[in-house]
Amino acid sequence: MFKKLILLIITFSLTQTTYALEPQNLDLVKQSLMQYHSSGQYQKDTKIVIDQAMTYLKKRISQPYKKPLAIVLDIDETSLSNYPDMAALSFGGSLDDIMREEAKGTDQAIKPTLELYQFAKANHVAVFFVTGRTQNYKDATIKNLKQVGYTDFDDLILKPENYNEKTVSIYKAGARKAIQDKGYNIVLNIGDQQSDLDGGFAEKSYKLPNPYYLIP
Ligand SMILES: [Mg+2]
Repeated sequence: MFKKLILLIITFSLTQTTYALEPQNLDLVKQSLMQYHSSGQYQKDTKIVIDQAMTYLKKRISQPYKKPLAIVLDIDETSLSNYPDMAALSFGGSLDDIMREEAKGTDQAIKPTLELYQFAKANHVAVFFVTGRTQNYKDATIKNLKQVGYTDFDDLILKPENYNEKTVSIYKAGARKAIQDKGYNIVLNIGDQQSDLDGGFAEKSYKLPNPYYLIP
């Protein structure tokens, strides 16, 4: 009886397939990404972060300051949304597909960021866009920004075509340093990627949600 039990246990153990931890199913991940957006949770989470940034900006405006104040905004998934294009490409597509969509210049504004922008401009705070988009997309980007309400920003800084560091944070932090060197005090830096925020040159940094892609 005892021997039989041992044999049964051994047989049972040998027939159990041992998987390494199976990664999440791709289709289910895509469904959850779409659900995050269509449920309105993405928009709510975005607004929560922008509200925090707005509170800080209001506080800074109310305090006396010597240097002109500025805010830095990233563009994609911070000021403009690529969601319809991403969903149409099923969160994939080749680099060419993505670039083609970018060049159309038809992205919608991310509303809470647009409101923060309008508040900043109305209170004489300079607004600089610092984007990972390259110089080739300058005209399409300016047209797109103006069309959706970002009408009189102070500058648009685009990534050089030949930039080839492993992270965009070197370029982005350098761009913020250049703004501060012009005499501005950057009180807010807002982006959807950690690489938008790393490297300093801002009093406060705020990270918006983006579960759709990662830019090192
Ligand atoms: Mg971005």
